[in-house]
Amino acid sequence: MSSQSSLYDVVIIGGGVAGLSAALWCDELGLSALVLESAGEIGGQLLWIHNRIENHLGAEPVANGRELRDRIAEQIKTRNFQLRLNAKVVSVNLNEKKVQLENGEEISSRFLILATGVSRRRLNIPGETEFKGRGIIESGKRDGYLVTGKTVCIIGGGDAACENALILGEVAAQVYLIHRRAEFRARREFLDKIKQQPNVTVLTETNPLQILGKKAVEAIELERKDGSVFQIATDFILFRIGVAPNTELFRNQLETSPDGYVTVNYLSETSVPNVFATGDLANPTSPTISTATGTGATAAKTILARLAA
Ligand SMILES: Cc1cc2nc3c(=O)[nH]c(=O)nc-3n(C[C@H](O)[C@H](O)[C@H](O)COP(=O)(O)OP(=O)(O)OC[C@H]3O[C@@H](n4cnc5c(N)ncnc54)[C@H](O)[C@@H]3O)c2cc1C
Repeated sequence: MSSQSSLYDVVIIGGGVAGLSAALWCDELGLSALVLESAGEIGGQLLWIHNRIENHLGAEPVANGRELRDRIAEQIKTRNFQLRLNAKVVSVNLNEKKVQLENGEEISSRFLILATGVSRRRLNIPGETEFKGRGIIESGKRDGYLVTGKTVCIIGGGDAACENALILGEVAAQVYLIHRRAEFRARREFLDKIKQQPNVTVLTETNPLQILGKKAVEAIELERKDGSVFQIATDFILFRIGVAPNTELFRNQLETSPDGYVTVNYLSETSVPNVFATGDLANPTSPTISTATGTGATAAKTILARLAA
């Protein structure tokens, strides 16, 4: 296990929009910065977006998140900060501003910016991992062509579940929208459209128990509120049960909300001095590209102000 210590002004954990905006602003302000990204490419959730993005002020609409990511990659190419891919942070000491990578390397800095975003929630039921890519699809928009003329079950009750039910309802023979509660949290316009879609069947107060099949998904087993268990034959399943903040590395070292989002003030400062949190992991109310870029900039600007004080 190699152990090495370097001192940067700022170490940024996460190479999504929030982390990269913070890094760009560090360069703008003359702060030395290092971005650590666990994946093999930058972009974070942008890589999950298969729809057009039309609501990012000042940016020409793009066909999908990857296109925006490519523009960001082009923009930061000439910027003066370090970016390390495949650099997963496995432990953090917030008070000492020290992070450790999977390979054992230790990196120190004067300030830390946490920008680890969110991950999709999982149900942890049998079959959920085993059938990934073998009937469990990731995106209605991207994988819709697979579903043409087939049956698909969508699990969830928010905007993403309902929007996907509408997208897939246009091509699938049958869509089941399965939600554990009696009421949906989704936008009224989605719910109204779903009512008019004859091939979308809504099952409320119903929980998935397991996914069944041999080589690929063949059925899903469900349980109603009254305890009765039944199965639906299906070719595909799409989970849209929300996201959870990636805060497990540092949750016990700073203040969070009960559901694990990092608590910050208007300057993106956490409860630990000189530790900032930006983007979705500190913002369950407004998880947007604009908020992520804005809070990244705020953190860098505040760091400069702290150094000058
Ligand atoms: C389907 C979909 C559609 C959307 N549409 C829009 C839209 O139209 N307009 C809009 O404004 N927003 C949209 N959003 C939201 C927007 O994409 C997010 O708000 C934004 O990308 C969040 O950026 P982030 O940097 O905070 O987090 P993320 O993008 O989640 O990035 C976090 C990064 O941290 C990395 N990381 C995590 N843990 C570690 C670790 N231990 N070590 C190192 N790296 C780590 C991850 O690999 C990831 O790259 C959409 C999101 C989705 C999923």
